[in-house]
Amino acid sequence: MKTQLELAKEGQVTESMAIVAKDEGFSPEEIRCGVAAGHIVIPCNPQRKTQRVCGIGRGLRTKVNASIGTSSDISDVALEIRKVRIAEEEGADTLMELSTGGDLDAIRRAVLEHCSLPVGNVPLYQAFAEAGRKYRNPNKLDAEYLFDLIERQLADGMSFMAIHCGINRFSVERLRKQGFRYGGLVSKGGTFMVSWMDYNRCENPLYEQFDRVCALMKKYDAVLSLGNGIRAGAIHDSHDRAQMAEMIINCELAELGREMGCQMMVEGPGHVPLDEIAGNIMLEKRMSGGAPYYVLGPLPADSGAGYDHITAAIGAAQSAWHGADLICYITPAEHLALPNENDVREGVRATRLAARIGDIAKYPERRELEKQVALARRDSDFEEYFRLSMFPEKMREVRDSRKPENQATCTMCGDFCAMERGFSLFKDGISGDKCRNKTETL
Ligand code: SF4
Repeated sequence: MKTQLELAKEGQVTESMAIVAKDEGFSPEEIRCGVAAGHIVIPCNPQRKTQRVCGIGRGLRTKVNASIGTSSDISDVALEIRKVRIAEEEGADTLMELSTGGDLDAIRRAVLEHCSLPVGNVPLYQAFAEAGRKYRNPNKLDAEYLFDLIERQLADGMSFMAIHCGINRFSVERLRKQGFRYGGLVSKGGTFMVSWMDYNRCENPLYEQFDRVCALMKKYDAVLSLGNGIRAGAIHDSHDRAQMAEMIINCELAELGREMGCQMMVEGPGHVPLDEIAGNIMLEKRMSGGAPYYVLGPLPADSGAGYDHITAAIGAAQSAWHGADLICYITPAEHLALPNENDVREGVRATRLAARIGDIAKYPERRELEKQVALARRDSDFEEYFRLSMFPEKMREVRDSRKPENQATCTMCGDFCAMERGFSLFKDGISGDKCRNKTETL
């Protein structure tokens, strides 16, 4: 079986490319060119018969990922399935299944069965969790088992995988020589892999046998997302030498993977102050040859826990603006607890809003919807305002909880409603209607 990338390079437009083109308002040929260049990926493992097709990459709407999954403390499959439903209801584009507690094969299969989105995961989680249970020491993980596990997960239908190939002796040496980090290592997969390499005095097998990883991904046409295992977990560590070493290696591997015909994506941080986000994205795009960039927020402050979905949304809007293509949500429970259903809902909402804000800046030619929303609000056409906006149910709930006497206003200003009175202030002959007609043609 050929991958989307290989087919695109041969000049073929696949059904998935045609769907992406229709959804995003491009011609199928434009999408094919983006896929052929490695600027667009389409995570769509054909093992799954029903899953939504979604394109990620240059020129496309910024996509939102919701992550769910059990932990060793809380392992409730029914809860995870409810979280899947909420993520879908709220408009997430992709889902990551990141369980580390319970029967991991069974949880993965249940999630795949109940989800219509492209699903991704991090194979190292299961590999180290199982090695920990079996040997009481995750460092005793057998590298061969890791490859078998990746194949098993792909055969179940994973459409993309975050795999930590960019952690190698060179990047670990940068970490060692640097000698200090305010936030330490924060990636679960990254921490376990660095520890495994140290214990076994071995190179990372996922780096050493990168062609084998790519061959597995190609077999299922899954997107290989190069994991950000040495990402900064504190803004004071952002862009330190260790993180940059891994980024350089990941960007190099993105090119190598594409040459082998594998759909490639690069993962980014993490914790990054706002003024460094644009630079981070520029570097990834330049060094990887324009590979789609999948960022975790990022979080531009360390002090916002409890409201980290908002902290991350601020970083996400900035990163989407500057070219990030897929944004992993952060929930209000970040750094504090396993997300519950409400956390998932709030996380997806905040991240979708951030992606929209980023896209308004990234694609100024696509602002028409915002204009229509503004006109509906100006005209006190609340039904139209609800219909066009992102969160109509929330809008209704708030408005209905504090109803105005005059339905053309709201209880914020009541009789002083600027929207209702605005046009009557033009006493010099410009009536409201004339003014409205004029603005509509702008
Ligand atoms: S009452 Fe105030 S807040 Fe409400 S619609 Fe009118 S101007 Fe806007």
